[in-house]
Amino acid sequence: MGPAKEQPLDRSGAAAGTTSAPALAAPRHAGEARWWEAAGGGIGRRLLVLMVTFSLLVTVLLSALQLYLDYRRDLGAIEARLTEIGTSYSDSLAASLWNVDQPQLDLQLQGIRRLPEIQWVELRETGALREPLLLSAGSRGGVRLLTRDYPLVFQHRGERRPVGTLHVEATLDPLFDRLAETAKANLLTQAVQTFLVALFLLYVVHRMVTRHLAEISRFVSGFDLQRVARPLRLDRAPPSPPDELDRVVESFNNMSVYLHRAYADLEQANEELESGLALRRSYEEKLERQAHYDTLTGLANRVLLLDRLHFALRRAQRTGLPGALLCIDLDRFKNINDSLGHAAGDELLKEAAHRLSRCVRDADTLARMGGDEFAVIAAEVESEEGPSRLAMRILEELAAPFLLEGHAHHVTASIGITLFPADGGDTHRLLRNGELAMYKAKDSGRNRHQCFEEQFNQALTEQMAMEERLRSAVANGELVLHYQPIVELKSRRVVGHEALLRWRTAEGGLCMPDRFIPRAEEMGLITEFGRWALESACGSLPADGRRVAVNVSPRQLQEPGFADFVSDLLRRHGLTPALLELEITERVVMDDSPDTEANLRLLCALGIRLSIDDFGIGYSSLAYLQKYPFDTLKIDRSFVTAALQQESAARLVETIIAMGHALGQEVIAEGIETEEQFAFLEAAGCELGQGYYFGRPAPRD
Ligand code: C2E
Ligand code: MG
Ligand code: MG
Repeated sequence: MGPAKEQPLDRSGAAAGTTSAPALAAPRHAGEARWWEAAGGGIGRRLLVLMVTFSLLVTVLLSALQLYLDYRRDLGAIEARLTEIGTSYSDSLAASLWNVDQPQLDLQLQGIRRLPEIQWVELRETGALREPLLLSAGSRGGVRLLTRDYPLVFQHRGERRPVGTLHVEATLDPLFDRLAETAKANLLTQAVQTFLVALFLLYVVHRMVTRHLAEISRFVSGFDLQRVARPLRLDRAPPSPPDELDRVVESFNNMSVYLHRAYADLEQANEELESGLALRRSYEEKLERQAHYDTLTGLANRVLLLDRLHFALRRAQRTGLPGALLCIDLDRFKNINDSLGHAAGDELLKEAAHRLSRCVRDADTLARMGGDEFAVIAAEVESEEGPSRLAMRILEELAAPFLLEGHAHHVTASIGITLFPADGGDTHRLLRNGELAMYKAKDSGRNRHQCFEEQFNQALTEQMAMEERLRSAVANGELVLHYQPIVELKSRRVVGHEALLRWRTAEGGLCMPDRFIPRAEEMGLITEFGRWALESACGSLPADGRRVAVNVSPRQLQEPGFADFVSDLLRRHGLTPALLELEITERVVMDDSPDTEANLRLLCALGIRLSIDDFGIGYSSLAYLQKYPFDTLKIDRSFVTAALQQESAARLVETIIAMGHALGQEVIAEGIETEEQFAFLEAAGCELGQGYYFGRPAPRD
């Protein structure tokens, strides 16, 4: 309800809680109307006008009727008088005329003339042989007249003789004057009476009705839903039984109680609704944040980036000022995650995000696309070198070591750059371009940036086709194993073979594992491939007692049933566990998951040999060496190659060999290609070797 237009009742200064309507005797307050003024408004005025009009109408009608009756009565009297004159005076006047008794005639005419309303009497003699007599009395004039002529007949010897005529004129003017007087008096008295009665009625109506109505109206317009005022009470003695006004007041009071209650309920419901709305708003804001921002780093997420990219692209198309999208991927982030755990991985991502944000301008958008992928939209770059400079700056920022769990870790990134609108007219295409360029940077050795070139699309199409074929490689029987001999250096005797996977493509060519194993890992196909390799290697193991080494992806070790699978394999092929060696590459670090640990321990318990592959180039080697019971240590080819070129590399190889021996492990040198390398390693005490010098990987036959 809006603000009250009038003062609320209980503030008006009138008798508390009752009324401010002026009673007749009550002293008048400023601005308060006199009773007739109050009564003269609205109903009162209309009542007055109606009563006076009606009363006057009635008065006029009744007076007219009365006047008419009076007129008829007086006119009747005059007419009766004239008739009376005829009967009373005709005979005596006729006799006097016969006798020509003029004095008598005059006397009689005067007598008639003196009768009321008779103003003129004229006697005309007829039939006389002499000059006829013409006598008259009174005066003539007036407006309304009533005339009569009487023939005068004299009875002489039984014979009726006409002797003259009597003409009498009676005036009606006094009658009309009287009637007018009466009408005037009547109207005046009736008007006064009507007015007084109307005034009285007005007062009564005011006292009994209209002032209370005004009171109710004031109370209603001052009614405030928010404040419970005292109930409405009228300034009068309560009539018994209660009348219409009482019922109105009671109804209104009931209604106001109901309204106050309903309003209070509404207020409460409103409050609840408000708080519900606030809660909802905060949820919505939270959802909005979650929908557009990355919770870990607080950066924009993929959705928001695509949105901003859309607008940046439109703007660039409009203004002609090019922009750039940089796709940034941390190199080998998975290794950190796997080796140090997810908490450390998260820390690293946060720190990386922080460093990236130092490189970008306010107008740029920096987003985390998911995992270890970030992206930057650099709007309005002045030249094509701009984005490259930004990429170099990012690489520099990331170059400083990251301190994780008290240790310094080096993280690099690969960055793909695509320019818009030159490289593409829609956001998804741009994103794909950026990612393609980023993959290219990774392929070219990581820790660098690469600008998008149109031919990458071709490469991507080919890669996608390859991935599609890779999926059905096992089913199509396209995988083959090649074997490379493992030689005892002292005796140059082949003690076993390493099984190496190859993919015979539909075109007939052989695809090397470096090209498809990483993809198979990413695509989740490595488990299938690994099982196939194990199955195939165990199935074709020569009966000469030489062992076979099969490469196992750390992914396979995470599989809960892997050790059981291997044990079942040995049983099915009737192999002694010592004939099987599993090579776990150190390039891809194992995680600390309970499944990996359980598998390794179970495999160990089965008596299967475990070897750590590519030792020296990977991660946390020493920790693993200490933690897991490896039987063999394979020195990576790069050390073997470098050993004859650098003194330090030679010392390192000797140290690794010594360390392996100290841990009770057998040491294999990988990639021996020359006689010198062979000689060096044999001299260094390395017992086994593998490399082109002894034999290249070849089909089993
Ligand atoms: P790896 O286990 O270290 O295998 C040795 C790699 O070095 C083989 O490459 C082999 O051909 C190559 N090599 C051996 N001697 C020499 C040498 O004297 N000079 C040179 N330049 N290279 C030599 P390949 O067959 O291309 O395999 C590459 C990697 O692919 C393997 O490294 C292994 O990590 C992975 N791999 C191969 N087969 C499988 C498999 O069945 N499962 C898994 N998970 N990984 C496999
Ligand atoms: Mg190997
Ligand atoms: Mg190796």
